[in-house]
Amino acid sequence: MKIRTDMRDIKQLIRPNILNLKPYASARDEFAGQSGIFLDANENPYGLLNRYPDPYQKALKSRLAAIKNINTDQVFLGNGSDEIIDLAIRIFCTPGRDKALAFTPSYGMYDVTTAIHDVALVKVPLDENFDIDLEKVRPFFKDENIKLIFICSPNNPTGNLMDEQAIEFILKNFKGIVVVDEAYVDFAKRPSLVRWIEKYNTLIVSQTFSKAWGLAAARVGMAFTNPEIIHFLNKVKPPYNISRLNQQAAIQALDDKATFNEKMVTILKERQRLQSMLEQHRLFDKVYPSDANFLLVKTKNANAIYQALIDQKIIVRNRHKLVDNCLRISIGTPDENKSLLAALDQL
Ligand SMILES: *Cc1c(COP(=O)(O)O)cnc(C)c1O
Repeated sequence: MKIRTDMRDIKQLIRPNILNLKPYASARDEFAGQSGIFLDANENPYGLLNRYPDPYQKALKSRLAAIKNINTDQVFLGNGSDEIIDLAIRIFCTPGRDKALAFTPSYGMYDVTTAIHDVALVKVPLDENFDIDLEKVRPFFKDENIKLIFICSPNNPTGNLMDEQAIEFILKNFKGIVVVDEAYVDFAKRPSLVRWIEKYNTLIVSQTFSKAWGLAAARVGMAFTNPEIIHFLNKVKPPYNISRLNQQAAIQALDDKATFNEKMVTILKERQRLQSMLEQHRLFDKVYPSDANFLLVKTKNANAIYQALIDQKIIVRNRHKLVDNCLRISIGTPDENKSLLAALDQL
C-alpha cells in the first residue's frame, strides 16, 4: 500500500479546548427515535412548528451526499456558509495567538469573522489577473501560527476561479487547514473541488444555497470535508443551527432541479449578454471575466456612477475601496438588466 505523506494529523491542528470539549447533548441526541410520546425537550405539545428540528439534518444531508457522490458523514450544514467560516475559525484558531490567511481582494467576512475571534488575518495580494501568486504565499507556510487559509473560488468580488494547480500546491505544502469557499461554483465552468476531499484531509469545501439555489433568505450553507473535521464542526455548532423550515426549503429546492437548471441557463445567458454590452459601454474601461453571477467592472469614477444609479433606484455594489474604481454588478432578471443598461445610457 502506498503511504500517503500528505495526510495530516487533524487532532494536532484542533484547538486544545475544542479537542477536550464535552459537547452539549440535546434531547434529540439522547433519543433520536421518530415515534413515541415526547416529554423530553420541554416543547409545547401543540402546534405545527412545536418540535425542535433534526440537529444533524439527516434528510437534507443524505440528499446532498447522493448528489455530490460522497458519504453523509462528509457533509456538514451551517446557518449559511458564513457560519461555516465562523466555526472553522473557532475550531482551529486560538484567539490572540493563532492566525489565518486570506487573499486580497476577496470576501469581507474573512476579515470580520477573524477579527471577532481576535485572530489576526494575514492578507496576501492576488496577482494582476486576481489569481494566487504562489511566491507571495509560500513564505507564510513556515509560520506555525497560521492555522487556516481561505481561498475563495470563484472569488468575490473579482469573479474568477483560482488556478487549480496553485490550490493543490497549497494543499500539499501548507500544514494547516484550507477552506475553499465555493459560494459561486455552480456558475463556473470548472467542477467543484469536492472531488479532492478524500485526497487531502485538510481540505474543507464550502458551498451555499444562497446564490445558485436562490435561497439566501433560508440561510443554509454546506461544508464538505472528512468525517474527522465534521466531528469537530458538530461539536461546536449550536445544537439546532438550521430551522426545520430552512431544512425543508433546501430539500424542496433540490427536488426541483428543473427550475434550478432553467434559472441557471437564464442567468448564464444574461451574464454573457451583460458582459458584452458593458464591454462596449463608454463608461467602463474593463469588464472582468466572470465565473460567478456578477460582473466586476472598472470605471473612471466608481463613486459617481454608483450614486447616479442609486438616484435611479438601481443598486450595485461599490467596491472602489477594495478594487480601484470598480463596481460589482449582480446578474438580475432580463428586465432588471435592461433597466440597468438603460440607466447607464442616461449617465
Ligand atoms: C455570498 C457568499 C457566501 C454566502 O454566505 P451565506 O452565509 O451562505 O449566505 C459565502 N462566501 C462568499 C464568498 C460569498 O460571496
